[in-house]
Amino acid sequence: MTNLSLNLSESAAMYPDHPAIRLDDDVLTYTALDDAASRVATLLQEYGVQPGDRVGLMLPNLPEFAMIFYGILRAGAVAVPMNPLLKRREVEYYLGDSGAKVLFAWHEVTGEATDAGAQLVPVVPGEFRAQVAERRPLANPATRDADDTAVILYTSGTTGRPKGAELTHAGLNTNQAVTARTLILIGPDDVVMGCLPLFHVFGLTCGLNAAIANGATLTLIPRFSPAKALEVIQRDKVTVFEGVPTMYAAMLGLRDSGHDVSTLRCCVSGGAALPVEVLRGFEEAFGCIILEGYGLSETSPVASFNHPNAVRKPGSIGTPIEGVRMRVVDEERKPVQPGDIGEIQIGGHNVMKSYWNKPAETAATIDADGWLSTGDMARQDEDGYFYIVDRKKDLLIRGGYNVYPREVEEVLYEHPAVAEAAVVGIPHPTLGEEIGAAVALKDGTTATPEELRDFVKGRIAAYKYPRAVWIVDGLPKGPTGKIQRREVVVPEGTLQ
Ligand code: AMP
Repeated sequence: MTNLSLNLSESAAMYPDHPAIRLDDDVLTYTALDDAASRVATLLQEYGVQPGDRVGLMLPNLPEFAMIFYGILRAGAVAVPMNPLLKRREVEYYLGDSGAKVLFAWHEVTGEATDAGAQLVPVVPGEFRAQVAERRPLANPATRDADDTAVILYTSGTTGRPKGAELTHAGLNTNQAVTARTLILIGPDDVVMGCLPLFHVFGLTCGLNAAIANGATLTLIPRFSPAKALEVIQRDKVTVFEGVPTMYAAMLGLRDSGHDVSTLRCCVSGGAALPVEVLRGFEEAFGCIILEGYGLSETSPVASFNHPNAVRKPGSIGTPIEGVRMRVVDEERKPVQPGDIGEIQIGGHNVMKSYWNKPAETAATIDADGWLSTGDMARQDEDGYFYIVDRKKDLLIRGGYNVYPREVEEVLYEHPAVAEAAVVGIPHPTLGEEIGAAVALKDGTTATPEELRDFVKGRIAAYKYPRAVWIVDGLPKGPTGKIQRREVVVPEGTLQ
């Protein structure tokens, strides 16, 4: 039988009293987490949820996230994780597109989710656990096929509005649970840092599921700060840290804080390019290696990794993990020679089944031979190591959160004075990128940069609005009249 939730029940059978998940003093053993998940599954049945139905969860990093996530899987339903910072129009889009029947939402964000088209289950501290405890446990998890969808993760991919990447029970299990065991050697003696958001593919799979599948303890931080991370590493004797490059850079800034981080044995970086200087500085300051990996929501996510027992090449995303194939192709999707730059394509068990209900977008992304085009430009060296050169797509990553320029531009266009808008990344020392917007106004209208910034701020999640807006006469355009974001010039002194 296949069901990703077996990762939890099998670990509970082996390590019943071992801490599975903790948030400060709130510690859940494997038995407690497994029991709660099986009761959440019963709760879902009361809401009429059948195997295959979609269920949203919109929570920060809390133990309840894990209870609900495994409860959804146990009921045979499909988990749709959502960022708790999303605003109402975004929530409506995700729920409407996925056809979610139920939404579990953290009590502080239910205002954004009320009447958004799914039955709402508010998650109130204490009350929610009492509500769950009153249910009887679901004896057996629903049986799923290996290629049944376990999770739908929203991502823009290479174009357009967010699309739901359908990740399967087997793809997630093989890619994350097994990879973590064989490559990072995660086991019951490990304490894994849970500071990556669990609603994002990296935190959900490499953090939560990899820890739970291997009997480790996941220690959560709902909101990352470098000081808090170092404090928790010391307090909980964290052994494995997983983060995006900006987290490593931020912690490096506190290298003299005096925290004892000697328990760290392995750090993993992914989600964006890890600057070599940050890698070197961090390793020297904290005495722990960082292994860089690469992947996408669509590839569950890890595709390549700097394997611990192979030669490590700083600046490289390593080589494909077991069962995964990667190649670099030209515009005609033909493999290029080593050293030449092209787009990365990925094939293997980890590749998503499809974009939910979007056959045309799926066909444009995965070819008949199963190769998924990533939109990431890279070259490969003679030893087969891959190096990312640039992103073909215009995804911006601000402090580890993805921001899709088009989505922000759409909101700007709603302002009556806006004629053209281009949202671009501005290099930022700690966030990696800050969001900027160049705007051309309609003739005869006026609007100040502050007014435009506040206009977007009120309509979109806080991490997405442009901190810098500047007015231009016109935007750079390609031959077809399409705005060329990459040619937008950021005025000197912006953000200072
Ligand atoms: P997401 O779907 O949110 O996981 O974002 C995937 C994108 O993150 C990829 O297509 C890459 O552009 C970027 N990415 C992930 N890992 C790396 C890495 N190690 N180096 C550079 N870019 C990365």
